[in-house]
Amino acid sequence: MTTPEFAQDYQRPHLAAELTQIQELAQSCSRAESADKFVAIVRDWNKRRSHVDTMFNIAMVRYAQDTTDAAAKAEQDYWDESAPLMRELDVLHARTLLDSPYRDALNNAFGDQLAALKGCMATTFAPEIKDAIAEEAQLASRYTEIMAKAELEFRGQNYSMSGIAVNFIDADRQVRLESQQARGRFLEKYSEELNGIFDRLVKARHGMGTALGHDNFIPLGYQLMSRTSYGPDEVAVFRDTIREQFVPIANELFESQRQNLGVDELLFHDEPVIDKRGNPCPTGDLEQILAEARTMYHDLGSDFGEFIDVMLDKGLVDVELRDGKAPGGFCTVFADTGMPFVFTSFNGSESDIAVVTHEFGHAFQVYCARKLELVEYKWPTVEAAEIHSMGMEFLTFPWMDRFFGDDAERYRRAHLTRILSTRLTYTAAVDHFQHEIYANPTLTPAERNALWLDMERQYQPHRNYGGLFPHLAKGNFWHRQLHIYQLPFYYIDYALAQICALQFWQKAEEDRDQAMKDYMAICEVGGSRSFTEILEVGNLRSPFDPDVIRDVATFARNALG
Ligand code: ZN
Repeated sequence: MTTPEFAQDYQRPHLAAELTQIQELAQSCSRAESADKFVAIVRDWNKRRSHVDTMFNIAMVRYAQDTTDAAAKAEQDYWDESAPLMRELDVLHARTLLDSPYRDALNNAFGDQLAALKGCMATTFAPEIKDAIAEEAQLASRYTEIMAKAELEFRGQNYSMSGIAVNFIDADRQVRLESQQARGRFLEKYSEELNGIFDRLVKARHGMGTALGHDNFIPLGYQLMSRTSYGPDEVAVFRDTIREQFVPIANELFESQRQNLGVDELLFHDEPVIDKRGNPCPTGDLEQILAEARTMYHDLGSDFGEFIDVMLDKGLVDVELRDGKAPGGFCTVFADTGMPFVFTSFNGSESDIAVVTHEFGHAFQVYCARKLELVEYKWPTVEAAEIHSMGMEFLTFPWMDRFFGDDAERYRRAHLTRILSTRLTYTAAVDHFQHEIYANPTLTPAERNALWLDMERQYQPHRNYGGLFPHLAKGNFWHRQLHIYQLPFYYIDYALAQICALQFWQKAEEDRDQAMKDYMAICEVGGSRSFTEILEVGNLRSPFDPDVIRDVATFARNALG
Protein backbone atom coordinates (compact mmCIF):
# COMPACT_ATOMS: atom_id res chain seq x y z
CA MET A 1 0.00 0.00 0.00
CA THR A 2 1.45 3.35 -0.98
CA THR A 3 0.73 6.32 1.27
CA PRO A 4 -1.62 8.62 -0.57
CA GLU A 5 -0.90 12.34 -0.64
CA PHE A 6 -3.92 13.19 1.48
CA ALA A 7 -2.68 11.21 4.49
CA GLN A 8 0.53 13.18 4.92
CA ASP A 9 -1.35 16.17 6.29
CA TYR A 10 -2.79 14.34 9.26
CA GLN A 11 -2.43 15.85 12.69
CA ARG A 12 -4.66 14.92 15.58
CA PRO A 13 -6.57 18.06 16.58
CA HIS A 14 -6.88 18.95 20.28
CA LEU A 15 -10.62 18.70 20.49
CA ALA A 16 -10.89 19.66 24.16
CA ALA A 17 -9.08 22.94 23.43
CA GLU A 18 -11.22 23.28 20.31
CA LEU A 19 -14.36 23.34 22.47
CA THR A 20 -13.16 26.41 24.40
CA GLN A 21 -12.24 28.22 21.20
CA ILE A 22 -15.53 27.30 19.58
CA GLN A 23 -17.43 28.57 22.61
CA GLU A 24 -15.63 31.91 22.15
CA LEU A 25 -16.51 31.86 18.46
CA ALA A 26 -20.15 31.20 19.33
CA GLN A 27 -20.11 34.15 21.72
CA SER A 28 -18.60 36.47 19.15
CA CYS A 29 -21.33 35.32 16.76
CA SER A 30 -24.04 36.32 19.18
CA ARG A 31 -22.25 39.65 19.86
CA ALA A 32 -21.72 40.42 16.15
CA GLU A 33 -22.60 44.06 15.50
CA SER A 34 -23.73 43.57 11.95
CA ALA A 35 -24.98 40.92 9.56
CA ASP A 36 -21.74 41.14 7.56
CA LYS A 37 -19.63 40.52 10.62
CA PHE A 38 -21.83 37.60 11.62
CA VAL A 39 -21.50 35.97 8.18
CA ALA A 40 -17.72 36.53 8.28
CA ILE A 41 -17.48 34.68 11.61
CA VAL A 42 -19.60 31.85 10.22
CA ARG A 43 -17.13 31.61 7.32
CA ASP A 44 -14.15 31.37 9.70
CA TRP A 45 -15.97 28.84 11.76
CA ASN A 46 -16.62 26.78 8.62
CA LYS A 47 -12.88 26.62 7.94
CA ARG A 48 -12.26 25.15 11.40
CA ARG A 49 -15.12 22.68 10.94
CA SER A 50 -13.71 21.65 7.54
CA HIS A 51 -10.32 21.01 9.05
CA VAL A 52 -11.58 18.88 11.93
CA ASP A 53 -13.81 16.97 9.50
CA THR A 54 -10.82 16.37 7.23
CA MET A 55 -8.70 14.98 10.08
CA PHE A 56 -11.60 12.76 11.16
CA ASN A 57 -11.91 11.36 7.63
CA ILE A 58 -8.19 10.76 7.22
CA ALA A 59 -8.14 8.79 10.48
CA MET A 60 -11.25 6.85 9.44
CA VAL A 61 -9.77 5.99 6.03
CA ARG A 62 -6.41 4.92 7.48
CA TYR A 63 -8.11 2.56 9.91
CA ALA A 64 -10.29 1.12 7.12
CA GLN A 65 -7.14 0.59 5.03
CA ASP A 66 -5.58 -1.55 7.75
CA THR A 67 -7.63 -2.49 10.79
CA THR A 68 -4.62 -4.40 12.18
CA ASP A 69 -2.34 -1.31 12.29
CA ALA A 70 -1.99 -0.35 15.95
CA ALA A 71 -1.32 3.35 15.22
CA ALA A 72 -4.36 3.63 12.95
CA LYS A 73 -6.46 1.83 15.57
CA ALA A 74 -5.25 4.21 18.31
CA GLU A 75 -6.25 7.16 16.16
CA GLN A 76 -9.66 5.62 15.45
CA ASP A 77 -10.09 5.03 19.22
CA TYR A 78 -9.33 8.71 19.84
CA TRP A 79 -12.06 9.75 17.42
CA ASP A 80 -14.52 7.22 18.87
CA GLU A 81 -13.89 8.64 22.35
CA SER A 82 -14.28 12.14 20.93
CA ALA A 83 -17.64 11.39 19.29
CA PRO A 84 -19.65 13.08 22.10
CA LEU A 85 -17.50 16.20 21.89
CA MET A 86 -17.88 16.29 18.11
CA ARG A 87 -21.66 16.12 18.50
CA GLU A 88 -21.54 18.85 21.15
CA LEU A 89 -19.55 21.07 18.78
CA ASP A 90 -22.02 20.42 15.96
CA VAL A 91 -24.98 21.25 18.15
CA LEU A 92 -23.33 24.41 19.46
CA HIS A 93 -22.78 25.45 15.84
CA ALA A 94 -26.41 24.70 14.95
CA ARG A 95 -27.88 26.55 17.91
CA THR A 96 -25.67 29.58 17.46
CA LEU A 97 -26.69 29.94 13.83
CA LEU A 98 -30.38 29.34 14.50
CA ASP A 99 -30.53 31.72 17.47
CA SER A 100 -28.86 34.58 15.64
CA PRO A 101 -30.85 37.73 14.86
CA TYR A 102 -29.07 37.62 11.47
CA ARG A 103 -30.78 34.45 10.23
CA ASP A 104 -31.87 36.24 7.03
CA ALA A 105 -28.29 37.23 6.26
CA LEU A 106 -27.31 33.60 6.71
CA ASN A 107 -29.98 32.47 4.25
CA ASN A 108 -28.91 35.15 1.78
CA ALA A 109 -25.28 34.12 1.97
CA PHE A 110 -25.68 30.32 1.93
CA GLY A 111 -29.28 29.49 0.95
CA ASP A 112 -32.06 28.01 3.10
CA GLN A 113 -30.69 24.49 3.27
CA LEU A 114 -28.08 25.37 5.90
CA ALA A 115 -30.73 26.44 8.41
CA ALA A 116 -32.82 23.36 7.55
CA LEU A 117 -29.84 21.09 8.30
CA LYS A 118 -29.07 22.98 11.50
CA GLY A 119 -32.72 22.58 12.51
CA CYS A 120 -32.26 18.80 12.40
CA MET A 121 -28.99 18.91 14.33
CA ALA A 122 -29.94 21.46 17.02
CA THR A 123 -31.66 19.05 19.41
CA THR A 124 -29.45 15.97 19.04
CA PHE A 125 -27.27 16.54 22.09
CA ALA A 126 -27.55 16.79 25.86
CA PRO A 127 -24.69 16.25 28.34
CA GLU A 128 -26.40 13.14 29.75
CA ILE A 129 -26.06 11.24 26.47
CA LYS A 130 -22.27 11.74 26.20
CA ASP A 131 -21.41 8.22 27.35
CA ALA A 132 -23.96 6.64 25.04
CA ILE A 133 -22.56 8.50 21.99
CA ALA A 134 -19.04 7.28 22.80
CA GLU A 135 -20.25 3.73 23.40
CA GLU A 136 -22.11 3.74 20.07
CA ALA A 137 -18.94 4.82 18.22
CA GLN A 138 -16.81 2.17 19.95
CA LEU A 139 -19.29 -0.61 19.23
CA ALA A 140 -19.45 0.43 15.57
CA SER A 141 -15.65 0.16 15.34
CA ARG A 142 -15.74 -3.26 16.97
CA TYR A 143 -18.19 -4.41 14.30
CA THR A 144 -15.72 -3.27 11.61
CA GLU A 145 -12.93 -5.12 13.38
CA ILE A 146 -14.86 -8.40 13.40
CA MET A 147 -15.98 -8.12 9.79
CA ALA A 148 -12.44 -7.28 8.61
CA LYS A 149 -11.10 -10.66 9.77
CA ALA A 150 -9.92 -12.95 6.99
CA GLU A 151 -11.25 -16.11 8.62
CA LEU A 152 -13.75 -17.48 6.13
CA GLU A 153 -12.52 -20.98 5.46
CA PHE A 154 -13.38 -22.29 2.02
CA ARG A 155 -11.73 -25.28 0.35
CA GLY A 156 -8.69 -25.20 2.61
CA GLN A 157 -8.01 -21.47 2.28
CA ASN A 158 -8.89 -18.46 4.40
CA TYR A 159 -10.72 -15.54 2.79
CA SER A 160 -11.93 -12.13 3.88
CA MET A 161 -15.58 -11.12 3.55
CA SER A 162 -14.68 -9.19 0.37
CA GLY A 163 -12.35 -11.82 -1.02
CA ILE A 164 -14.75 -14.74 -0.88
CA ALA A 165 -17.62 -12.96 -2.63
CA VAL A 166 -16.49 -13.76 -6.18
CA ASN A 167 -17.43 -17.39 -5.49
CA PHE A 168 -21.04 -16.47 -4.80
CA ILE A 169 -21.62 -15.85 -8.52
CA ASP A 170 -19.73 -18.89 -9.78
CA ALA A 171 -21.20 -21.15 -12.46
CA ASP A 172 -20.58 -24.19 -10.25
CA ARG A 173 -23.45 -24.60 -7.83
CA GLN A 174 -21.26 -26.49 -5.35
CA VAL A 175 -18.77 -23.58 -5.24
CA ARG A 176 -21.62 -21.19 -4.51
CA LEU A 177 -22.98 -23.45 -1.80
CA GLU A 178 -19.67 -24.03 0.00
CA SER A 179 -18.55 -20.38 -0.17
CA GLN A 180 -21.90 -19.14 1.15
CA GLN A 181 -21.72 -21.77 3.88
CA ALA A 182 -18.25 -20.47 4.78
CA ARG A 183 -19.74 -17.01 5.27
CA GLY A 184 -22.58 -18.55 7.29
CA ARG A 185 -20.09 -20.36 9.56
CA PHE A 186 -18.17 -17.11 10.13
CA LEU A 187 -21.34 -15.29 11.16
CA GLU A 188 -22.27 -18.19 13.40
CA LYS A 189 -18.86 -18.14 15.08
CA TYR A 190 -19.29 -14.46 16.02
CA SER A 191 -23.04 -14.68 16.49
CA GLU A 192 -23.00 -14.22 20.25
CA GLU A 193 -20.74 -11.19 20.10
CA LEU A 194 -22.70 -9.69 17.19
CA ASN A 195 -25.92 -10.08 19.19
CA GLY A 196 -24.22 -8.54 22.23
CA ILE A 197 -22.95 -5.55 20.23
CA PHE A 198 -26.36 -4.92 18.72
CA ASP A 199 -28.10 -5.28 22.06
CA ARG A 200 -25.89 -2.58 23.55
CA LEU A 201 -26.33 -0.39 20.46
CA VAL A 202 -30.13 -0.57 20.69
CA LYS A 203 -30.05 0.22 24.41
CA ALA A 204 -27.66 3.14 23.90
CA ARG A 205 -29.73 4.55 21.04
CA HIS A 206 -33.04 4.10 22.87
CA GLY A 207 -31.53 5.79 25.92
CA MET A 208 -30.38 8.75 23.83
CA GLY A 209 -33.80 9.08 22.21
CA THR A 210 -35.67 9.12 25.51
CA ALA A 211 -33.12 11.41 27.21
CA LEU A 212 -33.80 13.92 24.43
CA GLY A 213 -37.54 13.76 25.06
CA HIS A 214 -38.70 11.23 22.45
CA ASP A 215 -40.60 7.96 22.95
CA ASN A 216 -37.78 6.01 21.35
CA PHE A 217 -34.76 6.41 19.05
CA ILE A 218 -36.68 6.85 15.77
CA PRO A 219 -37.15 10.67 15.80
CA LEU A 220 -33.49 11.15 16.79
CA GLY A 221 -32.44 8.70 14.06
CA TYR A 222 -34.32 10.76 11.49
CA GLN A 223 -32.75 13.99 12.77
CA LEU A 224 -29.27 12.48 12.57
CA MET A 225 -30.03 11.48 8.96
CA SER A 226 -31.03 15.14 8.34
CA ARG A 227 -34.39 14.11 6.92
CA THR A 228 -35.87 17.54 6.33
CA SER A 229 -38.87 16.86 4.10
CA TYR A 230 -40.47 13.54 5.10
CA GLY A 231 -40.99 11.29 8.11
CA PRO A 232 -41.65 7.64 9.07
CA ASP A 233 -45.24 7.74 7.74
CA GLU A 234 -44.18 8.64 4.20
CA VAL A 235 -41.42 6.05 4.37
CA ALA A 236 -43.92 3.35 5.45
CA VAL A 237 -46.14 4.08 2.44
CA PHE A 238 -43.07 4.00 0.19
CA ARG A 239 -42.05 0.58 1.56
CA ASP A 240 -45.56 -0.79 1.04
CA THR A 241 -45.55 0.35 -2.59
CA ILE A 242 -42.13 -1.16 -3.18
CA ARG A 243 -43.38 -4.46 -1.76
CA GLU A 244 -46.60 -4.44 -3.80
CA GLN A 245 -44.84 -3.57 -7.05
CA PHE A 246 -41.57 -5.46 -6.85
CA VAL A 247 -42.29 -8.69 -4.95
CA PRO A 248 -44.36 -10.05 -7.89
CA ILE A 249 -41.61 -8.98 -10.34
CA ALA A 250 -38.98 -10.62 -8.12
CA ASN A 251 -40.98 -13.84 -8.02
CA GLU A 252 -41.18 -13.91 -11.83
CA LEU A 253 -37.48 -13.16 -12.20
CA PHE A 254 -36.48 -15.85 -9.72
CA GLU A 255 -38.71 -18.36 -11.51
CA SER A 256 -37.02 -17.49 -14.81
CA GLN A 257 -33.61 -17.80 -13.11
CA ARG A 258 -34.62 -21.22 -11.82
CA GLN A 259 -35.42 -22.32 -15.36
CA ASN A 260 -32.20 -20.82 -16.75
CA LEU A 261 -30.19 -22.61 -14.08
CA GLY A 262 -32.05 -25.87 -14.70
CA VAL A 263 -32.64 -26.56 -11.00
CA ASP A 264 -35.69 -27.99 -9.25
CA GLU A 265 -35.70 -25.31 -6.58
CA LEU A 266 -34.00 -21.93 -6.57
CA LEU A 267 -32.11 -21.96 -3.29
CA PHE A 268 -30.41 -19.17 -1.36
CA HIS A 269 -27.02 -19.71 -3.00
CA ASP A 270 -28.58 -19.56 -6.50
CA GLU A 271 -30.19 -16.16 -6.03
CA PRO A 272 -27.35 -13.94 -7.31
CA VAL A 273 -26.72 -16.00 -10.48
CA ILE A 274 -28.68 -15.30 -13.66
CA ASP A 275 -27.86 -18.43 -15.68
CA LYS A 276 -25.78 -21.59 -15.96
CA ARG A 277 -22.68 -19.69 -17.03
CA GLY A 278 -22.46 -17.84 -13.71
CA ASN A 279 -22.45 -14.07 -13.65
CA PRO A 280 -20.01 -12.27 -15.93
CA CYS A 281 -16.74 -11.14 -14.35
CA PRO A 282 -14.56 -8.30 -15.64
CA THR A 283 -12.02 -9.42 -18.21
CA GLY A 284 -9.16 -7.30 -16.86
CA ASP A 285 -7.21 -7.10 -13.61
CA LEU A 286 -7.13 -4.12 -11.26
CA GLU A 287 -4.76 -2.05 -13.42
CA GLN A 288 -6.73 -2.74 -16.57
CA ILE A 289 -10.06 -1.93 -14.92
CA LEU A 290 -8.76 1.43 -13.71
CA ALA A 291 -7.24 2.17 -17.13
CA GLU A 292 -10.58 1.40 -18.79
CA ALA A 293 -12.32 3.56 -16.20
CA ARG A 294 -10.02 6.42 -17.13
CA THR A 295 -10.94 6.08 -20.79
CA MET A 296 -14.64 5.74 -20.00
CA TYR A 297 -14.78 8.90 -17.91
CA HIS A 298 -12.85 10.83 -20.56
CA ASP A 299 -15.43 9.64 -23.09
CA LEU A 300 -18.24 10.89 -20.85
CA GLY A 301 -17.02 14.48 -21.10
CA SER A 302 -14.21 16.84 -20.19
CA ASP A 303 -15.41 17.42 -16.60
CA PHE A 304 -15.45 13.68 -16.04
CA GLY A 305 -12.03 13.28 -17.63
CA GLU A 306 -10.46 15.93 -15.41
CA PHE A 307 -12.07 14.25 -12.41
CA ILE A 308 -10.81 10.73 -13.13
CA ASP A 309 -7.26 11.95 -13.76
CA VAL A 310 -7.17 13.65 -10.37
CA MET A 311 -8.58 10.57 -8.63
CA LEU A 312 -6.15 8.13 -10.18
CA ASP A 313 -3.07 10.34 -10.24
CA LYS A 314 -3.35 11.73 -6.70
CA GLY A 315 -3.80 8.45 -4.86
CA LEU A 316 -7.48 9.08 -4.11
CA VAL A 317 -8.48 5.49 -4.80
CA ASP A 318 -7.66 2.37 -2.74
CA VAL A 319 -9.24 -0.70 -4.36
CA GLU A 320 -6.59 -3.38 -3.82
CA LEU A 321 -7.69 -6.54 -1.97
CA ARG A 322 -5.58 -6.88 1.21
CA ASP A 323 -6.03 -8.75 4.47
CA GLY A 324 -7.00 -6.45 7.32
CA LYS A 325 -8.91 -3.98 5.17
CA ALA A 326 -12.40 -3.12 6.36
CA PRO A 327 -15.04 -4.84 4.22
CA GLY A 328 -17.36 -3.00 1.85
CA GLY A 329 -16.79 0.17 -0.06
CA PHE A 330 -17.37 3.86 0.43
CA CYS A 331 -16.58 7.29 -0.89
CA THR A 332 -15.69 10.11 1.45
CA VAL A 333 -14.46 13.69 1.11
CA PHE A 334 -11.54 15.61 2.58
CA ALA A 335 -13.27 18.93 3.06
CA ASP A 336 -10.08 21.02 3.31
CA THR A 337 -9.28 20.35 -0.34
CA GLY A 338 -12.73 19.22 -1.49
CA MET A 339 -11.16 16.03 -2.83
CA PRO A 340 -13.05 12.73 -2.74
CA PHE A 341 -11.60 9.37 -1.77
CA VAL A 342 -12.84 5.95 -2.89
CA PHE A 343 -12.25 2.86 -0.78
CA THR A 344 -13.07 -0.77 -1.51
CA SER A 345 -11.48 -4.17 -2.26
CA PHE A 346 -11.59 -5.48 -5.81
CA ASN A 347 -12.21 -9.23 -5.82
CA GLY A 348 -12.43 -10.03 -9.52
CA SER A 349 -16.23 -10.09 -9.57
CA GLU A 350 -18.75 -7.85 -11.29
CA SER A 351 -18.90 -5.76 -8.10
CA ASP A 352 -15.50 -4.26 -9.04
CA ILE A 353 -17.23 -2.51 -11.91
CA ALA A 354 -20.05 -1.41 -9.64
CA VAL A 355 -17.36 0.43 -7.65
CA VAL A 356 -15.98 2.08 -10.77
CA THR A 357 -19.47 3.36 -11.52
CA HIS A 358 -21.23 3.67 -8.13
CA GLU A 359 -18.49 4.95 -5.83
CA PHE A 360 -16.97 7.06 -8.59
CA GLY A 361 -20.44 8.53 -9.17
CA HIS A 362 -20.40 9.70 -5.55
CA ALA A 363 -16.85 10.94 -6.02
CA PHE A 364 -17.77 12.88 -9.15
CA GLN A 365 -20.59 14.67 -7.31
CA VAL A 366 -18.19 15.54 -4.48
CA TYR A 367 -15.62 16.74 -6.99
CA CYS A 368 -18.23 18.97 -8.68
CA ALA A 369 -19.18 20.43 -5.28
CA ARG A 370 -15.58 21.21 -4.31
CA LYS A 371 -16.11 24.93 -4.93
CA LEU A 372 -19.01 25.04 -2.50
CA GLU A 373 -17.61 26.63 0.62
CA LEU A 374 -19.59 25.02 3.43
CA VAL A 375 -18.58 21.63 4.75
CA GLU A 376 -22.31 20.86 5.03
CA TYR A 377 -22.70 21.30 1.27
CA LYS A 378 -20.02 18.86 0.11
CA TRP A 379 -22.68 16.15 0.06
CA PRO A 380 -26.43 16.22 -0.15
CA THR A 381 -28.43 14.18 2.35
CA VAL A 382 -27.88 10.50 1.56
CA GLU A 383 -31.12 9.63 -0.25
CA ALA A 384 -30.13 12.34 -2.73
CA ALA A 385 -26.43 11.37 -2.73
CA GLU A 386 -27.27 7.82 -3.80
CA ILE A 387 -28.91 9.16 -6.97
CA HIS A 388 -25.51 10.29 -8.22
CA SER A 389 -23.96 6.88 -7.61
CA MET A 390 -26.82 4.70 -8.81
CA GLY A 391 -27.47 7.08 -11.69
CA MET A 392 -23.87 6.64 -12.81
CA GLU A 393 -24.35 2.85 -12.83
CA PHE A 394 -26.90 3.38 -15.63
CA LEU A 395 -25.27 6.27 -17.47
CA THR A 396 -22.16 4.12 -17.98
CA PHE A 397 -24.13 1.14 -19.37
CA PRO A 398 -22.91 1.80 -22.95
CA TRP A 399 -19.27 1.39 -21.81
CA MET A 400 -19.70 -2.01 -20.20
CA ASP A 401 -18.20 -3.72 -23.28
CA ARG A 402 -14.86 -2.29 -22.17
CA PHE A 403 -15.03 -4.20 -18.90
CA PHE A 404 -16.92 -7.34 -19.86
CA GLY A 405 -16.21 -7.79 -23.58
CA ASP A 406 -18.80 -10.10 -25.16
CA ASP A 407 -20.46 -10.53 -21.79
CA ALA A 408 -21.50 -6.86 -21.49
CA GLU A 409 -25.15 -7.54 -22.27
CA ARG A 410 -25.25 -10.33 -19.70
CA TYR A 411 -23.74 -7.93 -17.15
CA ARG A 412 -26.39 -5.29 -17.85
CA ARG A 413 -29.05 -7.96 -17.48
CA ALA A 414 -27.55 -9.28 -14.23
CA HIS A 415 -27.31 -5.75 -12.82
CA LEU A 416 -30.88 -4.90 -13.66
CA THR A 417 -32.14 -8.27 -12.45
CA ARG A 418 -30.44 -7.75 -9.10
CA ILE A 419 -32.06 -4.34 -8.65
CA LEU A 420 -35.54 -5.57 -9.56
CA SER A 421 -35.44 -8.92 -7.80
CA THR A 422 -33.39 -8.21 -4.69
CA ARG A 423 -32.11 -4.74 -3.97
CA LEU A 424 -35.35 -2.76 -3.76
CA THR A 425 -37.27 -5.29 -1.67
CA TYR A 426 -34.29 -6.10 0.57
CA THR A 427 -33.75 -2.39 1.19
CA ALA A 428 -37.36 -2.01 2.27
CA ALA A 429 -36.99 -5.07 4.52
CA VAL A 430 -33.91 -3.66 6.26
CA ASP A 431 -35.67 -0.34 6.81
CA HIS A 432 -38.86 -1.95 8.11
CA PHE A 433 -36.77 -4.15 10.43
CA GLN A 434 -35.01 -1.12 11.91
CA HIS A 435 -38.28 0.73 12.56
CA GLU A 436 -39.61 -2.32 14.44
CA ILE A 437 -36.36 -2.75 16.36
CA TYR A 438 -36.31 0.81 17.69
CA ALA A 439 -40.07 0.90 18.33
CA ASN A 440 -39.59 -2.28 20.43
CA PRO A 441 -36.19 -1.82 22.05
CA THR A 442 -36.55 -4.66 24.57
CA LEU A 443 -36.68 -7.50 22.02
CA THR A 444 -34.38 -10.42 22.78
CA PRO A 445 -31.94 -11.72 20.14
CA ALA A 446 -34.34 -14.59 19.40
CA GLU A 447 -37.25 -12.17 18.98
CA ARG A 448 -35.13 -9.99 16.66
CA ASN A 449 -34.40 -13.03 14.54
CA ALA A 450 -38.09 -13.93 14.42
CA LEU A 451 -38.76 -10.36 13.30
CA TRP A 452 -36.15 -10.68 10.53
CA LEU A 453 -37.75 -13.93 9.33
CA ASP A 454 -41.06 -12.08 9.18
CA MET A 455 -39.37 -9.41 6.99
CA GLU A 456 -38.09 -12.17 4.69
CA ARG A 457 -41.60 -13.61 4.46
CA GLN A 458 -43.03 -10.22 3.53
CA TYR A 459 -40.35 -8.84 1.24
CA GLN A 460 -38.46 -11.93 0.03
CA PRO A 461 -41.09 -14.70 0.03
CA HIS A 462 -39.09 -16.69 -2.55
CA ARG A 463 -36.20 -17.12 -0.06
CA ASN A 464 -35.42 -20.83 0.40
CA TYR A 465 -32.45 -21.89 2.52
CA GLY A 466 -33.18 -25.51 1.58
CA GLY A 467 -31.96 -26.87 4.92
CA LEU A 468 -28.39 -25.97 3.90
CA PHE A 469 -27.92 -22.78 5.93
CA PRO A 470 -29.29 -23.56 9.38
CA HIS A 471 -27.79 -20.44 10.98
CA LEU A 472 -29.35 -18.09 8.41
CA ALA A 473 -32.63 -20.00 8.44
CA LYS A 474 -32.90 -19.09 12.15
CA GLY A 475 -33.10 -15.42 11.17
CA ASN A 476 -29.47 -14.34 11.57
CA PHE A 477 -29.03 -12.93 8.06
CA TRP A 478 -29.26 -9.31 9.25
CA HIS A 479 -25.98 -9.64 11.19
CA ARG A 480 -24.08 -9.13 7.94
CA GLN A 481 -25.74 -5.77 7.20
CA LEU A 482 -23.26 -3.11 8.30
CA HIS A 483 -25.76 -0.25 8.17
CA ILE A 484 -27.97 -1.88 10.80
CA TYR A 485 -25.05 -1.69 13.21
CA GLN A 486 -23.24 1.45 12.16
CA LEU A 487 -25.62 3.74 10.29
CA PRO A 488 -29.13 3.44 11.71
CA PHE A 489 -31.88 4.31 9.21
CA TYR A 490 -29.34 4.80 6.40
CA TYR A 491 -30.90 2.25 4.09
CA ILE A 492 -34.26 3.20 2.64
CA ASP A 493 -32.19 5.91 0.95
CA TYR A 494 -30.96 3.28 -1.52
CA ALA A 495 -34.51 2.48 -2.63
CA LEU A 496 -35.58 6.14 -2.79
CA ALA A 497 -32.53 6.92 -4.91
CA GLN A 498 -32.93 3.76 -7.01
CA ILE A 499 -36.37 4.88 -8.15
CA CYS A 500 -34.70 8.13 -9.28
CA ALA A 501 -31.71 6.36 -10.85
CA LEU A 502 -34.06 4.16 -12.86
CA GLN A 503 -35.63 7.36 -14.18
CA PHE A 504 -32.15 8.44 -15.31
CA TRP A 505 -31.77 5.14 -17.14
CA GLN A 506 -35.14 5.58 -18.89
CA LYS A 507 -34.24 9.15 -19.79
CA ALA A 508 -30.82 8.15 -21.13
CA GLU A 509 -32.50 5.54 -23.35
CA GLU A 510 -34.84 8.20 -24.74
CA ASP A 511 -32.66 11.36 -24.75
CA ARG A 512 -29.10 10.89 -23.59
CA ASP A 513 -28.12 14.57 -23.85
CA GLN A 514 -30.95 15.61 -21.57
CA ALA A 515 -30.09 12.85 -19.10
CA MET A 516 -26.46 14.03 -18.94
CA LYS A 517 -27.53 17.67 -18.49
CA ASP A 518 -29.84 16.75 -15.64
CA TYR A 519 -27.11 14.61 -14.07
CA MET A 520 -24.58 17.44 -14.19
CA ALA A 521 -27.15 19.81 -12.68
CA ILE A 522 -27.71 17.63 -9.61
CA CYS A 523 -23.96 17.16 -9.18
CA GLU A 524 -23.25 20.86 -9.22
CA VAL A 525 -25.73 21.81 -6.49
CA GLY A 526 -24.00 19.38 -4.11
CA GLY A 527 -25.69 19.52 -0.75
CA SER A 528 -26.94 23.07 -1.03
CA ARG A 529 -30.53 21.93 -1.65
CA SER A 530 -32.98 19.59 0.01
CA PHE A 531 -33.85 16.18 -1.45
CA THR A 532 -37.10 17.48 -2.95
CA GLU A 533 -35.33 20.48 -4.47
CA ILE A 534 -32.65 18.23 -5.97
CA LEU A 535 -35.41 16.18 -7.62
CA GLU A 536 -36.65 19.40 -9.23
CA VAL A 537 -33.14 20.40 -10.34
CA GLY A 538 -32.72 16.99 -11.99
CA ASN A 539 -36.21 16.92 -13.56
CA LEU A 540 -36.99 13.80 -11.55
CA ARG A 541 -40.39 12.65 -10.31
CA SER A 542 -40.77 12.01 -6.58
CA PRO A 543 -40.29 8.41 -5.42
CA PHE A 544 -42.91 9.10 -2.74
CA ASP A 545 -45.57 9.17 -5.49
CA PRO A 546 -46.85 5.55 -5.89
CA ASP A 547 -47.63 6.26 -9.57
CA VAL A 548 -43.96 7.00 -10.18
CA ILE A 549 -42.93 3.67 -8.65
CA ARG A 550 -45.51 1.88 -10.80
CA ASP A 551 -44.28 3.61 -13.97
CA VAL A 552 -40.64 2.82 -13.20
CA ALA A 553 -41.50 -0.81 -12.41
CA THR A 554 -43.39 -1.16 -15.70
CA PHE A 555 -40.55 0.33 -17.75
CA ALA A 556 -37.90 -1.85 -16.10
CA ARG A 557 -39.98 -5.02 -16.37
CA ASN A 558 -40.63 -4.43 -20.07
CA ALA A 559 -36.95 -3.75 -20.66
CA LEU A 560 -36.08 -7.13 -19.17
CA GLY A 561 -38.75 -8.79 -21.28
ZN1 ZN B 1 -23.54 4.78 -2.41
